[in-house]
Amino acid sequence: MHSLNGQKIVVASHNEGKLREFADLMAPFGFEAKSAKEFDLPEPDETGTTFEDNAYIKAFAAAQATGLPALSDDSGLCVDALDGAPGVYTANWAETPDGSRDFGMAMQRTEVALQDVGAVDPAQRKGRFVAVICLAFPDGAAEYFRGEVEGTLVWPPRGELGFGYDPVFLPNGFEKTFGEMSAAEKHGWKPGQPEALSHRARAFQKFAQARLGSA
Ligand code: IMP
Repeated sequence: MHSLNGQKIVVASHNEGKLREFADLMAPFGFEAKSAKEFDLPEPDETGTTFEDNAYIKAFAAAQATGLPALSDDSGLCVDALDGAPGVYTANWAETPDGSRDFGMAMQRTEVALQDVGAVDPAQRKGRFVAVICLAFPDGAAEYFRGEVEGTLVWPPRGELGFGYDPVFLPNGFEKTFGEMSAAEKHGWKPGQPEALSHRARAFQKFAQARLGSA
């Protein structure tokens, strides 16, 4: 197994929301987290059809370009009534004709799709956020850590916190959407505590247990 002795790692993402969450999650471990932006890395095309494929594309591109281990996250929202859509295309659903991203529009698009299939009761509006973290090395070796969180899609959106589709996702067992939770509540985890809440924190927790010796 390749080691992480250097304590320097590239976070292979340009997404501000993800970068903020990674910085929070990594903070207790004393890693120097460098973002893909700091290295001026291009954003590779996500041509894969699974979260794992796309996570590898991003992490390996960053590891190869920098010579450092790289950590990426490929994530998305999978809605049961939509046969798992938007899934790996979650970010694409937010794309506007001018090439920017509009998550208000993406949430609306998801809602219209749910209404089109008659999914109005909470029981018909179940889904999950999925995150696959890939740790890749410059020689192409890679490891994967997957986290999922089950919940219900609500409408209208609630809360101004978080990013992406957070305001429409109500995790099972909670009364607040991710958009109404502080970052700490959404992660739901610190090293030494039993279980993380968000998909990203759950995936990170597995990475930390496997690679950073965290409980
Ligand atoms: P990708 O991993 O770059 O393909 O993008 C995943 C997309 O899924 C993001 O742009 C967000 O819209 C959405 N997403 C992933 N994780 C979260 C989350 O924690 N909250 C809200 N939206 C998320």
